[in-house]
Amino acid sequence: MLANIMKDQMEIIKTRVCVIGAGAAGLCAARHLAQNSKQFIFQVFEKASDVGGTWVYTDKIGFENNGLPIHTSMYKNLRTNLPKEIMHFPDFQEIKGNNESCVPHDVILDYLKNYTEHFKLREFIQFNTEVLFITPKIFTNDFLLQNWKVKVKNLISSELKEYIFDAVMICNGHYFDPIIPHISGINNFCGQVLHSHNYRYPENYTDQTVIILGASSSGIDIAFDLSEKSSRIFLSHNMNRLLNLNDDSSKITEVVGIDKFENEKFVLKDGSTVKADILIYCTGYHYKYAFMDKNCKIKVDENYVTPLYKHLINIEHPTMCFIGIPTHVIPFPMFHMQVQYFLSLLKGKAQLPNMSKMLDDSKLKSFKKNHAHKLGFDQWAYNDYLAKAGGFENLPAFYKLGFKIWSEHRKRNIDHYKHFNLVPSDDYELFRIVDNQQT
Ligand code: FAD
Repeated sequence: MLANIMKDQMEIIKTRVCVIGAGAAGLCAARHLAQNSKQFIFQVFEKASDVGGTWVYTDKIGFENNGLPIHTSMYKNLRTNLPKEIMHFPDFQEIKGNNESCVPHDVILDYLKNYTEHFKLREFIQFNTEVLFITPKIFTNDFLLQNWKVKVKNLISSELKEYIFDAVMICNGHYFDPIIPHISGINNFCGQVLHSHNYRYPENYTDQTVIILGASSSGIDIAFDLSEKSSRIFLSHNMNRLLNLNDDSSKITEVVGIDKFENEKFVLKDGSTVKADILIYCTGYHYKYAFMDKNCKIKVDENYVTPLYKHLINIEHPTMCFIGIPTHVIPFPMFHMQVQYFLSLLKGKAQLPNMSKMLDDSKLKSFKKNHAHKLGFDQWAYNDYLAKAGGFENLPAFYKLGFKIWSEHRKRNIDHYKHFNLVPSDDYELFRIVDNQQT
């Protein structure tokens, strides 16, 4: 009896943390919360029926069986664009797969499932449970006295429940809500129009002429995937330099951006025209937090999320964090750093700077709002800052070196970089790029 009362009292003084999502970011949050179970009690809510988030591939498009929009943006033949040698979490090394660096999506899903089992995370996850609404409940200037009301729905029983937490970690991903730019006259196009979110396999476009708008990772990857089956592919983009793609089949032609659709043709920005059967938008995704009440004070303007300190902490309510907002990074190791920094704050081991310093950090530093969270090579200084301020270990140096070598290789060989492997030396101090037929 006494033991039970003491246990209950212990639970009361623990910080109650809500994690939204059980993709890579939410799993990483759960792993560190579980490791710190003396200080934290936590619950992960996941609307899907299993872990993995965007790595859970399905042939289907449109809606899940539970009526919610399909979350994944994976296509059947997708292989990672980062090599597995530098993609993993630092505390759970090996991504298995074949002997190629760029592995199929199911290898990453297996890796995330192994991570879940290894750290015994399943017991903390409520599956088939959608977070509908979050609002701050107590307004106070005391960082550790704010708390949150979280309303969830069980998608099987339709039961609604409300919980109170002291902190929330938003890990809902940001590749599920397509950006569809307006093209003048597009309503007159009789062919199929889709976004890369709904692209699954090339067989659907056999012998068709496809125009792809957008030539970031997805646009280029999908162009090559289509080249197996489609008769011709136009890769249309607004970059100020040509990518000089060298596809063996000569089916892919790079063209400038689309101006309008007129007289059954796509009119390009240089005045030339293209006839196509299919239009695929590879134009990216919105950050979206539909469950967030306006009192959370988070705004998204052209994919610039404010007010955030270090792309992570809600400056208005610092017991709320967002894992995974920065782009052009190695995501899993960065999640590992962001989660630990947030937990250091909750534990009182790290302190936030004053409000004006945080607001200054949150200001737009790039030319365009939609590049506000693009880190690229700045991710290393960012991760180092989190480690230093949070009082935990830096990432091992090989991530930075491997990323540099891989990025240079990718830039030089944009059309066939996945045909090569990133091979580390035994001590991970050096990397070589090797044709994957030779390893
Ligand atoms: P997600 O994986 O999207 O997970 C979010 C989870 O939150 C989902 O399970 C979702 O169901 C759940 N959720 C959302 N809203 C709610 C709610 N209201 N209630 C309950 N649950 C909710 N990264 C790499 O490192 N290497 C690569 O090669 C690579 N290739 C990629 C290719 C594509 C096509 C895409 C789309 C992404 C790629 N990424 C790659 C990036 C990838 O998104 C990250 O690696 C990482 O998996 C993101 O994890 P996440 O947990 O932030 O988001």
